[in-house]
Amino acid sequence: MYIGRFAPTPSGPLHFGSIVTAIASFLDAKSNKGKWLLKIDDIDEPRVRDGSVSEILKGLERLGLAWDDHVVYQSQRKEQYQFHINDLKEKGLLYNCNCSRKMINNSSLTGSHGLIYNGTCREKNLKNQTGCSIRIKVVDEDISIIDSIQGEISQNIHNDIGDFILKRSDDIFSYQFSVVVDNHLDNISHIIRGYDLINSLPRQFYLHKVMGFDFPKSSHIPIATLGRKKLSKGHGDRILIQNYENLIWMNALTFLGQSTQNYHLSMTVEDIIQHAIKGWSKNKVKGFAEREIDEHAHR
Ligand SMILES: [Zn+2]
Repeated sequence: MYIGRFAPTPSGPLHFGSIVTAIASFLDAKSNKGKWLLKIDDIDEPRVRDGSVSEILKGLERLGLAWDDHVVYQSQRKEQYQFHINDLKEKGLLYNCNCSRKMINNSSLTGSHGLIYNGTCREKNLKNQTGCSIRIKVVDEDISIIDSIQGEISQNIHNDIGDFILKRSDDIFSYQFSVVVDNHLDNISHIIRGYDLINSLPRQFYLHKVMGFDFPKSSHIPIATLGRKKLSKGHGDRILIQNYENLIWMNALTFLGQSTQNYHLSMTVEDIIQHAIKGWSKNKVKGFAEREIDEHAHR
């Protein structure tokens, strides 16, 4: 069965870029008669802003984006994440790292995705966990994945990233790791998200493999930019103006390369959604990383 999801971080209200991602994942799930789940990525608690969960839920409701099942919160899954950390530890794949940011800066090469961790602590066998991050050992092999929009994504994690962090020194589970456990717990079959997350795909593929989980099919949609800058949460308030939900839908569909010829602004959101599900074609979403939006169209 097709199970997709939308997973916003509650660091502010929805902005056009996150709405586009929500709409793309919703339409792909619904046009495949699948489920569309909602997960709140609130594991990185310092980044969570008060009130933004309810803003996000209200924003989705107003756009007619009704999720299936109950809302999942990462902050309520810490026990499950720890269970899988313990499992990987028993397999001998994890180690503690007490390198400071400064040490890593000074000892690492910079790769195309940032600093490459050189494995300083791999053989140290550090027992004391306080103040340590937990890293996973990676192997020197090329990983190649086909993304349904972006094509082939290849990476050698060992050469480009190094052993990466599953749990930070402040005890927060990393994005890479928590998402993989979530995919497993929620039986996610299809990932649709923004292009800015594509670099994490090989790491997540690797984690699925070592944890024995099936890897979902992935599609990375272009990032919405304004003035060549990625849209931030700050653009949210301006874009989600009451009573303009159908305009937001049409702008999102246009952004996603879907034809809006037969749509008009007097249609209700429900009508637009029914049309959009029928007409949805993922092939029309073009394989580029970024796409400039017309600012005036969203005021
Ligand atoms: Zn270290």
